[in-house]
Amino acid sequence: MRGLKSITDLAPADIRGLYAGFDSPISTLDCGKKCAPHNPGGKPFCCDICHAVPAAYKSEWNYLESNTDLWHKWRGNECDETTTQDRIRIKADIPKNMILLACLGPDRCQRDFRAFSCRQFPFFPYVTSNYRFIGLAYEWEFEMKCWVISNLHQVSRKYREEFIGTYDHLFSLFQDEFEDYAYHSWRMREHFGRQRRRIPLLHRNGRTCLISPASERIRFVEPMRLPKFGFYK
Ligand code: SF4
Ligand code: SF4
Repeated sequence: MRGLKSITDLAPADIRGLYAGFDSPISTLDCGKKCAPHNPGGKPFCCDICHAVPAAYKSEWNYLESNTDLWHKWRGNECDETTTQDRIRIKADIPKNMILLACLGPDRCQRDFRAFSCRQFPFFPYVTSNYRFIGLAYEWEFEMKCWVISNLHQVSRKYREEFIGTYDHLFSLFQDEFEDYAYHSWRMREHFGRQRRRIPLLHRNGRTCLISPASERIRFVEPMRLPKFGFYK
């Protein structure tokens, strides 16, 4: 894959290879069974288009479109509750190298053809202000919905290793991906700083820690002692 300029240049075989290396379940428990009972729609929150709109790199879409009927381009009418304002906001939030998708739903999911956004949820690669990718942080707006966020100790070692390995590889190839996640990590520090909270993180060294959003000082903690949210308290 050397010599590629952008993640949108990945060939279908590259995508298949990356998927194969990032395929382990997040936990030995089926986390969808933990969160779905709390969703009035009865679906896991991350597989419910009314709560999360999946996104894929354009190169992923090229691969998915020609290999599965699981996905279609997001139209914005898949969820009855999506307002015009929601559509505008969701479209504005998407990076230029990605497109929004909708799938057939959890009853008809095809595990091999899950997008990166499904595989990594609820996590993203956390990058410090001095540009080091140090581990997995979570998408904070799902704190009240996602069971995994309240049970970080249940995330398997294998999943963590695959996540780190996948993003080490992608960041070695694509600087703009690294920059996007550095910016997202900065947003998380701003959000947690305003709330005077520390950021929980699954460190790449296998341990779990809390990070001060101001000083970025790291304190390693017992994962069982991390906060729980909403239904999962
Ligand atoms: S990752 Fe979170 S939201 Fe998705 S199925 Fe698991 S617990 Fe539910
Ligand atoms: S493809 Fe599967 S894992 Fe991804 S959002 Fe759809 S149902 Fe969920």
